[in-house]
Amino acid sequence: MKTTVGLTAVLLLVAVASAAQAQSEKPGVERLYILNCGEGVAGDISRWSPGVNEGKSMDFVDNCYLIKHAQGWLLWDTGIPDGVAAMPDGLVPSDPKAVTWRRPKTLAGQLDQIGVKPSDIRAMAVSHTHPDHIGNVEMFPTAMLYVQKTEYDWRGANNQPRFKAEHPVTKLDGDRDVFGDGSVVILRTPGHTPGHQSLLVKLPKTGAVVLSGDAVHFRDNWDNRRVPSMNVSKEQTTASMQKIADTLTKEKAQLWINHDKAQRDSLRMAPAFYE
Ligand SMILES: [Zn+2]
Repeated sequence: MKTTVGLTAVLLLVAVASAAQAQSEKPGVERLYILNCGEGVAGDISRWSPGVNEGKSMDFVDNCYLIKHAQGWLLWDTGIPDGVAAMPDGLVPSDPKAVTWRRPKTLAGQLDQIGVKPSDIRAMAVSHTHPDHIGNVEMFPTAMLYVQKTEYDWRGANNQPRFKAEHPVTKLDGDRDVFGDGSVVILRTPGHTPGHQSLLVKLPKTGAVVLSGDAVHFRDNWDNRRVPSMNVSKEQTTASMQKIADTLTKEKAQLWINHDKAQRDSLRMAPAFYE
């Protein structure tokens, strides 16, 4: 009799513990903020669409995305360096066809506005290592950085490493379910750079969204599957665009294109957010 009571008590405890665990895992992603991480003007947009719109200039934007998950904050991309905010003429490129970037708002200022300290952000990931995406990585020196190994090992100008050796890093070789519940998944989408990656985010009310980094730069290039001349691999870029298209279908997801100004103008920016 005594044994039966003991066993019942243990089973009850197990049931309570499982229910508590299910409760704590339930929320997943709670919020997503779109942060203004730069505004610019491209000198010649045919740089991104070979043979099309030659000599035409176009406005660009640059976003960072801050995700609040039940397990903590994740920052996706870090944008143009905050220091550019103090440059009256913006960051002028050596190639006049490229983008002149400005920083009308700093990343630090926008985090402050929503009550998040840089030290609150324990995890970050970048789509790739071009300067308009990694400009503020060291604002978060202790945050775990998720990056593809092929991107991490890709040397920059003068054979320079892309990140500080002491920055905590998880080097990936493919897709990664960041929180283990399927709500935030890094997708390996190489082509623009060797280890370019995109992010699938499943929001409770908005539904699924794919943040495509620079797998594509603006809507017209997506619709026509155009590959910019500076990309490291045309073949990989096309395959990655197909992978994103398949993900959009499977997850009934929206595509949010980082540099597309027309799309950003239609979205809510921080301190507003998506749930
Ligand atoms: Zn970019």
